[in-house]
Amino acid sequence: LWLCKKKPPVVTIMGHVDHGKTSLLDYIRKTKLTTKEFGEITQAIGAYQIEFKEEKITFIDTPGHAAFAQMRARGASVADIVVLVVAATDGVMPQTKESIKIIKEAGIPFIVAINKIDLPEAEPERIKGQLTENEVFVEGYGGNVVAVPISAKTGQGIDQLLEMILLTADLEELKADPAGVLEAVIIEAKSDHFCGPTASLIIKNGSLSKGQQIFADGVEAKIKMLKNEWGKSVEKVFPGDPVLVLGFTSLPKVGVKVTPSKEGQGATFEEKGFSKSVQETGKEKFRIILKADVSGSLEAILGCLPQEVSVIGQGVGEVNDSDVLLAKTLKAEIYTFNLEPDAETRKLAQTEKVKIKNFNIIYDLLKELEERILKILEPNIDRKILGKAEILATFEMKGEKIAGAKVLEGKINKSQPVILQRGEKELGQVKIVSLKQQRQDINEAVVGTEFGAVFSGKVDFSSGDMILSFSLEEK
Ligand code: GDP
Repeated sequence: LWLCKKKPPVVTIMGHVDHGKTSLLDYIRKTKLTTKEFGEITQAIGAYQIEFKEEKITFIDTPGHAAFAQMRARGASVADIVVLVVAATDGVMPQTKESIKIIKEAGIPFIVAINKIDLPEAEPERIKGQLTENEVFVEGYGGNVVAVPISAKTGQGIDQLLEMILLTADLEELKADPAGVLEAVIIEAKSDHFCGPTASLIIKNGSLSKGQQIFADGVEAKIKMLKNEWGKSVEKVFPGDPVLVLGFTSLPKVGVKVTPSKEGQGATFEEKGFSKSVQETGKEKFRIILKADVSGSLEAILGCLPQEVSVIGQGVGEVNDSDVLLAKTLKAEIYTFNLEPDAETRKLAQTEKVKIKNFNIIYDLLKELEERILKILEPNIDRKILGKAEILATFEMKGEKIAGAKVLEGKINKSQPVILQRGEKELGQVKIVSLKQQRQDINEAVVGTEFGAVFSGKVDFSSGDMILSFSLEEK
């Protein structure tokens, strides 16, 4: 009987464009291949396996841009370990930040590879500082995230990187049961003239043999042939192995789970992983991907977003499939400004149940967001406004910022929460820690009177802003 055995770690490379992901994969493939004879053969799968210090490591490759976009959205969940590549010249860039978010959401162990250190302008220490600003704390900078300086050009540091991958795999105790129930993930799918629909999988548990029947989210396959990454036919594959499967009845979707029966279908691995990590963090934010027609409007919207919104992706230009997949993976909604998605992306969004909302007025977009947040944070509760006051002046005393305000409507009660508002924009919700009239502590300021208030919470305010006192009532 087989028991759980150590399995080769499955590794994905993430990071900003041009930071050297492809070069790193190429270098490792070129120098660490198990069998020399495969050197001349084209790789058949977007993944390959190497042997280093007598241990196997599977790298998920990223052939072509479209596939890479999908893998970026879903790749993190297939992988056991992520290598985050950051160029020592450019440093942390937008896609680096996006990758950090995905990695953290997925809760996957990762290693930072600071690449291009062969270049004279490389500044690895500066990059470590930038990573700290993005809450990636590497060794020597208040944390224990491993950062390996490498050059995908000269090969410097690559052995160390591979060693760190194996060490991380050991620490994570990556195990699988080769005799257990099959679990695999589709990493690519394409139709071939000769072979019909084919898909590449990574085995996570159990094994897969020729003749076996499998299901991938409703798509069935009776396996006609299994091929390894070098196109060679194989009889059986095990956890950690990449494999090309022939025999699907139609094209399965990338990212879906493969099982030996129809039961347990429909959920992809990342969905489980991500919802778990959201629960663990406790404070759920409303996640969006924001896209706008021009950078001016994108910046303007980003500058006005309510605190409760977490932007997990942003950009100028049309919504594409990778935005939709990223939104699905991270349970986000897509908000666009002056952009209509094309029919195909809309269709994908429909099947993946991702909401895309377009606006032509920034104010409308922000208003919609605020309404959504209220619904999410307090689904069955309405705010009842008890009073309004206008801030006439602000001053500082003993390091505290005081709002001098006048009640315009109703009353401001010290025990109720208040919202600070600038025009139509909500600055945030705070509590009143001190409420005074002529140096006397009071509990309530009524309409027409002036008062001074100190708030708890880090919301900045200035004269002209409104204070809204409210109570929460069940619907
Ligand atoms: P990707 O977009 O992240 O896959 O980046 P590429 O691997 O395509 O690399 C982008 C550019 O940087 C290419 O011109 C590479 O030759 C170059 N490059 C990648 N790694 C290194 C490195 O370690 N040193 C130097 N000098 N150039 C590198």
